[in-house]
Amino acid sequence: MKLPIVDHPTAAKPFVTNEDRSHWHDDALWFVRVKRDRQASSVPEWEYLRERASAIKTHTIANLGDYLEQFERNATARGATVHWAADAEEHNAIVLKILRQHGTERIVKSKSMLTEECGLNPYLEDNGVEVVDTDLGERIVQLREETPSHIVLPAIHIKKEEVGQTFHTHLGTDAGASDPQYLTEAARNHLRNKFLSGEVGITGVNFGIAQTGGFVVCTNEGNADLGVSLPKVHIACMGIEKMIPSLADLSVFTRLLARSATGQPVTTYTSHFHGPKDDNSELHIVLVDNGRTRLRGNDTFRPAMHCIRCGACMNTCPVYRRSGGHSYRATVPGPIGSVLSPSRDAKSYKSLPYACSLCGSCSDVCPVKIPLHHQLLAWRGELVGNGLLPLSKRVAMKTASFLFQRPGLYRTAGSMGRTALRVLPHFVTHNRFNTWTKARELPKPPRESFRQWYIANRGNPQRRDSANGNATAHANTRSNGDAS
Ligand code: SF4
Repeated sequence: MKLPIVDHPTAAKPFVTNEDRSHWHDDALWFVRVKRDRQASSVPEWEYLRERASAIKTHTIANLGDYLEQFERNATARGATVHWAADAEEHNAIVLKILRQHGTERIVKSKSMLTEECGLNPYLEDNGVEVVDTDLGERIVQLREETPSHIVLPAIHIKKEEVGQTFHTHLGTDAGASDPQYLTEAARNHLRNKFLSGEVGITGVNFGIAQTGGFVVCTNEGNADLGVSLPKVHIACMGIEKMIPSLADLSVFTRLLARSATGQPVTTYTSHFHGPKDDNSELHIVLVDNGRTRLRGNDTFRPAMHCIRCGACMNTCPVYRRSGGHSYRATVPGPIGSVLSPSRDAKSYKSLPYACSLCGSCSDVCPVKIPLHHQLLAWRGELVGNGLLPLSKRVAMKTASFLFQRPGLYRTAGSMGRTALRVLPHFVTHNRFNTWTKARELPKPPRESFRQWYIANRGNPQRRDSANGNATAHANTRSNGDAS
């Protein structure tokens, strides 16, 4: 399927220019980041856990085929049916087939970024199946006909007043109500009825355990457990990278996940599923590739498969916090999304590796130590190598490279630039062709370069005197010129 070209600056504009929302979003996510820091610093072996998690993931991804087969054997022995889906289309077709076999018209689904990635909701709805997302944040965005803007906090971009308006329209709550307690109660009552009438429960998977053939789903609302407790059929959709070798390994990840995601010691519910719940029930596990094997084959970007979808890199990213998750036009936004999306389609997502200041904060917080900012830099290299850099950037880079290799020319150009910026009318530099100045003012250009200042103030005495002489002569000339 041909994907549209994503231009991150353009897509981010509505969010960035809404200063109130942008600041509030920034603050809300920073609050989560601070909570994460508090939790991380309360665990003395935090860095050891990160090292361990990274090593487990490296080992698992290197031996993924073996672990997937082991998982299938053990899950099947426990009575589950394991399906393999090469891509999103196959995944959706498998789920629909199971639903058709049971004459299902309504499903309840807990949060699953994989089903978002595969476009399962619209696919099922096109085929006459009602889908009810049961995670509160996901239900809010579903009612608003939006997509999640964050992988852990799907409705983080929406204010409580807007939730109140949405619930008033769809659930009949009081007009103008925005009290979180009242709105949550209303959502609870609404979802209870949906749980009771759900014919099949669909969940995502946080970790699949090869040793046991079981899997783990982490939620804070208990909606995954409720969603699969009542129906006879449970379908678990799992990306193949969610595999870990053993239960002992799981303990490393459960200690890292919630602390990194929301700053909690552990998720409220960490539910283990081992086979169907009784003889009258069915458990289907759909293992999905959808480009993961291709990513695994790439030495540079393979570590991106280690991601446990905690969202910490988003909460800390200065670009994500200010531009909002929808600006990435991808299921997984933020730093990890900017690595994963170009792996899916480099041309469509070529702007995402540039939605990054390279500050490295994402790499610092990542619980599985993915070197995210190095990966984003590597993507820029790939894009340049593949001729995917826009012409304007190519010309700018070539010009900069030419100048940087010729110090004399560079100094002359700098001097001319500083003079030009002082004397040229404002519209010459601030116009619709210069995107950089659209939301910024240029600083007042200094009269001397940093090099001149450094030689005059900190350089070796001989050169300093000479520079001082030049600077004095220059100042005299200037003052004469100003006077005249
Ligand atoms: S890349 Fe790391 S920090 Fe970002 S979501 Fe994945 S595990 Fe979390």
